[in-house]
Amino acid sequence: MSVTRDIRRQTLVIATHNQGKLEECADLLKRYNLSLTSAKELGLPEPEETETSFVGNARIKAHAAARASGLPSLADDSGIAIDALNGAPGVYTADWAETDQGRDFVVAMTKAHELLEKKSAPYPRRAQFCCTLVLAWPDGHDLVFAGEMPGQIVWPMRGELGHGYDPIFQPDGFDVTFGEMDRWEKNKISHRAKAFDKLYDHFGD
Ligand code: IMP
Repeated sequence: MSVTRDIRRQTLVIATHNQGKLEECADLLKRYNLSLTSAKELGLPEPEETETSFVGNARIKAHAAARASGLPSLADDSGIAIDALNGAPGVYTADWAETDQGRDFVVAMTKAHELLEKKSAPYPRRAQFCCTLVLAWPDGHDLVFAGEMPGQIVWPMRGELGHGYDPIFQPDGFDVTFGEMDRWEKNKISHRAKAFDKLYDHFGD
């Protein structure tokens, strides 16, 4: 790998306007002791996510931030894919929460549950949280790292600790939902953590 591609030599932009995502990415990057900023902090516009895949949308966000800032930029696109719903909501995970009053994830989780009920989907209702990271440079080069956390959809919702769909997702190997886990404990084992593990494998310690 060329030295100029080493993210530890320059400020890294986290290409997000989402504070929660920024904090989770910053926590996962702690081991590199990087200088971090974000698309929001730099006042960059939020590009429209017009692709139909996680990697496509992560590429849009990472390249937009890298071009606008002149700095390497890391974007995360993530969501939940439910097997019995043919992978939905997938890239539309956040969209399912849209209401006239803003995002409401209880609405989104209820929709997922009702669709599963309508189909009489068998138990366990398998699902995966997916995270795709794209690290882009201003010259257009990029790297992709993806991670998945398999588990099942449970109902009713359990736990107040997480965000998004956390209260209906029980990861394999645990008897609690993401919503019942301490946020930083979850961040060590999540789909996002697995994608970051691949980034560490690439850059080393
Ligand atoms: P994005 O900003 O387009 O990547 O939207 C991702 C959406 O997926 C978020 O709004 C969350 O609803 C959901 N999501 C991603 N990761 C998680 C997670 O770890 N827990 C709960 N929901 C998540």
